[in-house]
Amino acid sequence: MLDDEQQRHDHDAAADAEQGGGEPRDQADERKPHAPYSRSMELLARLAEEPRRAAIVLDIDGTLAPIVPRPADARIPDATLRELARLAGRYALVACISGRAEADAQRLVGLAQVVVVGNHGLELDPDAGSWRTRLAAFLAHEPRPAEDKGLTAAFHFRGAADERAARDELEQIAARARAAGFETRYGRKVLEILPPLPANKGSAVLRLTAERGLTRALYAGDDTTDLDAFRALERLELGVRVAVVSAEAPAGLAEAADLVVAGPDELRELLRTL
Ligand SMILES: [Mg+2]
Repeated sequence: MLDDEQQRHDHDAAADAEQGGGEPRDQADERKPHAPYSRSMELLARLAEEPRRAAIVLDIDGTLAPIVPRPADARIPDATLRELARLAGRYALVACISGRAEADAQRLVGLAQVVVVGNHGLELDPDAGSWRTRLAAFLAHEPRPAEDKGLTAAFHFRGAADERAARDELEQIAARARAAGFETRYGRKVLEILPPLPANKGSAVLRLTAERGLTRALYAGDDTTDLDAFRALERLELGVRVAVVSAEAPAGLAEAADLVVAGPDELRELLRTL
C-alpha cells in the first residue's frame, strides 16, 4: 500500500475512535497514526495486496445505504455504486448480503458484476422451499402488516407513534411465530421472522468464498445479523471485520470488529483505499 493511503487509513480510524469521524480532512491529516490501529491497517494492506484472492462482502441497509424512515425509500448513493463497480474489477468477488428479499436487494445494487444474496443467505439453503409455504400461512393470520420477503418476514416499527406499544404487539407476534416453528430476532427497529435453518450471513460468506476458492475477505455490516459474518471470518486465512456504527448499533458490534467507521459515507472512504 502507498504511504499516503496508509496515512489516510490511519487518520480515518483515529478520527472514528475519537471524533465519530466528523472532523475535516485537513485537520485529520496532521494527526499521527495511533499504535493500536497498526494491526487493522496491516490487515487492510494484506487484503489489498492480493485482490484476486480476496472477497469484499457488504451488508446493504445502514452499511452502503443510509437508513431512512421507510425501507422502500433506501438508496445506495451513486458514488458508492461507482466504488462497488471499481472493486468488482479488482477483487475476485464483490458481494452484498442483505436481509431484504433477493429481488429487492438486487434492485438497490443493480450491478451485474456484484453478487447479491437476499434473506441473510437463507435463500442459499436447500431446505428453504418448504418454509415459504409455512410463512405464507403464518402471515395470512397476522393482522399487523408485514414486509413479506417470501422466506422471511419483517415487522417494522421505525416511526411508530408509541414505540413501547408497538414492541408489546410485536412481542405477541414473535411468540406466535415461535409456536409455529419459526425463529425470531430484533434488528434496527424491526422484528424478523425466519425459518429455523442453519443458514445466516456467516454461512453465506463461507459458501460464497468457498465456491470461488477464496480464503481472504473483508466484511462490513451495522446490525445484529452481521455478527454471524464477523464470526465466520475467523474460519478464513485472512478476515477484516468492519463495523458501521450508529446510535442503534447492537451491543458488541464495534468490539467484534477490526475497524470501526461512523456511517455509510465513511465506509465508502475506506473502500476507496482498497
Ligand atoms: Mg444493515
